[in-house]
Amino acid sequence: MNIATPTHPQPLNLPPRLLLGPGPSNANPRVLAAMSLPPIGHLDPFYLQVMDEIQTLLRYVWQTQNPLTISVSGTGSAGMEATLANVVEPGDVVLVGVMGYFGHRLVDMATRYGGDVRQLTKPWGQVFSLEELKQGLETHRPAVLALVNAETSTGARQPLEGVGELCREYNCLLLIDTVTSLGGVPLYLDDWGVDLAYSCSQKGLGCPPGLSPFTMSSRAWDKLQNRKTTVTNWYLDMNLLSRYWGEPRTYHHTAPCNMNYGLREALTLIVEEGLENCWQRHRTNAELLWEGLADLGLNCHVDLEFRLPTLTTVRVPDGVDAKAVSSKLLKEYNIEIGGGLGELAGIVWRIGLMGYNSRPENVILLLEALKKALP
Ligand code: PLP
Repeated sequence: MNIATPTHPQPLNLPPRLLLGPGPSNANPRVLAAMSLPPIGHLDPFYLQVMDEIQTLLRYVWQTQNPLTISVSGTGSAGMEATLANVVEPGDVVLVGVMGYFGHRLVDMATRYGGDVRQLTKPWGQVFSLEELKQGLETHRPAVLALVNAETSTGARQPLEGVGELCREYNCLLLIDTVTSLGGVPLYLDDWGVDLAYSCSQKGLGCPPGLSPFTMSSRAWDKLQNRKTTVTNWYLDMNLLSRYWGEPRTYHHTAPCNMNYGLREALTLIVEEGLENCWQRHRTNAELLWEGLADLGLNCHVDLEFRLPTLTTVRVPDGVDAKAVSSKLLKEYNIEIGGGLGELAGIVWRIGLMGYNSRPENVILLLEALKKALP
């Protein structure tokens, strides 16, 4: 044996952090309790029932009837990749609305799948108008239009009303990132004509990271069935995964069953609360935050009309060291907030109020701590 035995590690002793950054958020204790149940076989009839329940619950929170609505094993990026991997064939024109960091990630992924990727761009913090999207469709005639509904890097909410109708007019699929909106911001996938969407477990749903809700309309499914080429990503190929999540329930991969117990519990909590009440809670607590920030003399980066209730970007005042303030919040108050990402690094802080963490007591605590941490 050449490798020395590691010195005995200490048991995990986590600091009691309050996660008010861009995610993950703290998980609801009921979710954590569900996750600590014993694992079960991934083809056990009981587990298959849990999978069915998750599909029904996800359809509710997304407001869709799409039969193929599942949780992909992996974080939000896995769901993101699954949407593109299944419908983008080499040479397909993919039009991406880039208004922040995650739009760029969509561009990167779509390019890797051979898409002929075109970009519409907006300054970080702004969103596209319907007219701009129509113009983009007219110019590029894409097979897929990809938009980020809740851009976590900027705190902006891209409205989707009317976009699905435009996509039908131009015969293209509408692909939406709902990572920072699902559970916290009103979403009506079917009414809005969304064909593909993905999300994550660790934000509005109040679960730890590790799963990525995914849904696909019949239009998107038809495009998948009419591909000339095989989906190049085996793990995320919906032709295969649909045979595990539906009949004939064939083994595909060993499902992370404990994560799915947690997701089921998280979604059940939303049903108990009522989806609209849950959206309203996010809105009310965000408004409490925005008022408190204004009282501290701080400005939000995004106009009220397009500001996300789940993620607020706050402008760092001139002469203030953004990192010093967030470090102080973490060290002295055990509160995590996020720094700016990409173009907004050093310019904004990012404050998340998502899922279990969207509560008035957290807002008050943060505002008090922020008051003390500011120079
Ligand atoms: N899309 C958006 C808008 C995100 O905010 C994130 C992560 O925060 C992702 C995609 C990627 O998700 P994950 O980090 O869970 O892989």
